[in-house]
Amino acid sequence: MVLKIKMQCCDKKPIIVLPAGEKLCKRHFMEYFENKVFKTIRQFDLIGKKESLGVAISGGKDSLTLLHSLNKLSKQNPKIKITAILINEGIKGYRENTIKTAKKFCEKNKIKLNIYSFEKEFGMTLDQMLKVLDAKPCTICGIFRRYLLNKKSKEMHFTKLATGHNLDDEAQSILMNQFKNNIHLSARLGPKVGIKQSNYFVQRIKPLYLCTEKEVTTYAFVNKLLDNFIECPYAAESYRAEVRNMINDFEAKFLGTKHAIVNSFLQILPDLKKKFSNGEVNYCKECGEPASKDKCNACRYIDKLNNIQ
Ligand code: SF4
Ligand code: ZN
Repeated sequence: MVLKIKMQCCDKKPIIVLPAGEKLCKRHFMEYFENKVFKTIRQFDLIGKKESLGVAISGGKDSLTLLHSLNKLSKQNPKIKITAILINEGIKGYRENTIKTAKKFCEKNKIKLNIYSFEKEFGMTLDQMLKVLDAKPCTICGIFRRYLLNKKSKEMHFTKLATGHNLDDEAQSILMNQFKNNIHLSARLGPKVGIKQSNYFVQRIKPLYLCTEKEVTTYAFVNKLLDNFIECPYAAESYRAEVRNMINDFEAKFLGTKHAIVNSFLQILPDLKKKFSNGEVNYCKECGEPASKDKCNACRYIDKLNNIQ
């Protein structure tokens, strides 16, 4: 499953060194990166000839790189329509800045952008929820964000929803699930998210699946996709941040670690999907969204919030 892209670079000044040691100048890196994204789309059959694609963006480097790439694809093939969707969780000092960047990008590129907020949909911002709920920021944030993305994607009749997850994100998720004995959650990973198709889920796809964080950051920087790189204030306290630091340390010592984690995972993923494909998908009795029990996690937290208010 390893993508092999042979690229002989020129005499121009290199801007990046790839894990295999290749040094690429700006022009050749752009070609390399875009080829990699389009090859990933073809290799994993992520996008059909005609689609109404939702693109989940945050205004950060990964999602704007994704939107930039898919906008190019849409221009080449007008039957692939794209709409950006952004969830404003309400994280003071952070999200308002990334929203500004996202709006600027979408206006400049004439891409329709729909924004939905926790405050309007659930009555509270994430910052406010965290004052009353006893849970980690990323847990609450992830549950409500996934819930809204799926619900709004269905309302907008998206055929698929593309997200900006890159190879580093995937390597982290694989190890996090391993460390927490959540192997059933790993069965839902991969470039095409989920175990089986269902009308209740809009198929999520990850076109940047084989691009490293370093490549995505370089692409975003070279294309001036955003003015500054800021990180969510809650990111540092997450379990993911611990795993990310550990994998980065390993990668620095043992080059190719991240690719090895993802490539070996891709070899066992079909078996994992098969193993967990018999589980029934339940639907939340409150909202009708997919759920593992009789109520989805979002509705459980909404109940808690209602009891507190
Ligand atoms: Fe949400 Fe955590 Fe990401 Fe911040 S780092 S946006 S809290 S998931
Ligand atoms: Zn529900």
